[in-house]
Amino acid sequence: MPERPGLRESVERIRSGNFSSRELAENCLRRIEALNGKLNAFAHWDADAAKADIQDGPLAGAPYALKDNLCREGTLTTCASKILEGWISPYSGGAAARLDEAGARYLGKTNMDEFAMGSSTEYSVYGPTKNPWDSSRSAGGSSGGSAAAVASEMVPLALGTDTGGSIRQPAAFCGVVGIKPTYGRVSRSGLVAFASSLDQIGTLTRDVGDAALALESLMGQDPLDATSLGEAIPALQPELDRGVKGLKFGIPAEDQWMQLDAGPARVFQDSVDALREAGAEPVEIALPHAQHSVAAYYLIATAEASSNLARYDGLRFGPRREAETLEELLLANRSQGFGAEVKRRILLGTFALSAGYVEAYYQRAQKTRTLIRNDFQKAFETVDFMVIPTTPTAAFHLGEKSDDPLSMYLSDIYTLPASLAGLPAASVPCGLDAGLPLGTQIWAKTLDEAMLIRAAASLERAFPFGEIRRAALASLVEAS
Ligand code: GLN
Repeated sequence: MPERPGLRESVERIRSGNFSSRELAENCLRRIEALNGKLNAFAHWDADAAKADIQDGPLAGAPYALKDNLCREGTLTTCASKILEGWISPYSGGAAARLDEAGARYLGKTNMDEFAMGSSTEYSVYGPTKNPWDSSRSAGGSSGGSAAAVASEMVPLALGTDTGGSIRQPAAFCGVVGIKPTYGRVSRSGLVAFASSLDQIGTLTRDVGDAALALESLMGQDPLDATSLGEAIPALQPELDRGVKGLKFGIPAEDQWMQLDAGPARVFQDSVDALREAGAEPVEIALPHAQHSVAAYYLIATAEASSNLARYDGLRFGPRREAETLEELLLANRSQGFGAEVKRRILLGTFALSAGYVEAYYQRAQKTRTLIRNDFQKAFETVDFMVIPTTPTAAFHLGEKSDDPLSMYLSDIYTLPASLAGLPAASVPCGLDAGLPLGTQIWAKTLDEAMLIRAAASLERAFPFGEIRRAALASLVEAS
């Protein structure tokens, strides 16, 4: 069977001459070709990616994939939207440039919800991504392609973007590790904007150690992103073995929004118990405004989206190149180029910002965001990190929520608070519910990725999920 190890092992084995970077890339490409018809995890890939001779740098030629909203010079970047059909990035964004500089090998772009708006990767011009654990279910979204690609061993590292949970939720649904660093830690240059005050790039990997290695290359200030932060970058790999003994961790106590069915409740309790057994002390914490996260997020994110997507003015981008009148051209391109969910967001956001409503909706949502941020500041005076489930349920069926936007939005309830507060957050696979993976989320203080990794690695030690994933997905592994 061709070998496709995780990121750290790939780097070590390429370095020690155990196998070549090209050979590994060929194995991954073969895997993509064998499985993509079934999973639809990749939107497009470079069949010649194994040809280049790359083996230097901290990532030593290990392969990676980008979500289809991340620019890399000379590659198709479509955001899974018809309006960007055929669009080639003229430059590399900060994240792709850093991975390339670190010696990683680009393989292709992964499927996503159009413009990253969604929680299921069903709103894609390429069709839905299937969950590798059960192809009748969603891989999550909007970075569902990245999560499915990593879970099915098409690639050891895929980047995703997380505006309201789009790295963490698909990671939980596919049984892999997803990390959204602090807002501003990774350059957003070359990330096609959805909601600029929330968008953040992060990693999907098989384990926490692989994420730590990739993030060390990815984080850091970039003059091309004015919101990127200049603070010193912590070394993350030394955190992997430190454990959590003597630390305090918070568990949000609100009855109104912490309502879980028996299966997810049991898995979450197991995570809490494991951290306690590892020597950390649980503390109940109050986040009184977090229950309003869904309402605040879907006003702020849609408002910013309505402004950001105005750049697709119907002239420069779009499927139609000719029309009788200018108005007809603009109308045709915007109405044929955007899918239904993107149009819904533009309409909602435009409404939330319109004269007479802006105070009642957008400004009120911003005030709520400040209250949520203040709740966190207070809570972090007493705890080192917090835990909360990543999702209320395991992966839902394809089609289950796609015609019911409100139920899709409500499924983001546990990921949104950290997005609104800009905090670093991780999802670690922590158990199964009826044979499907569930994730536990960790939230850390702003800029404290070191604590995030330390806690995530402790949780992972209690649930060595790699074995479970490999056994469950063995039939896929045999397929190539
Ligand atoms: N599911 C959320 C939304 O639809 C979050 C998406 C994201 O993080 N990109 O907006």
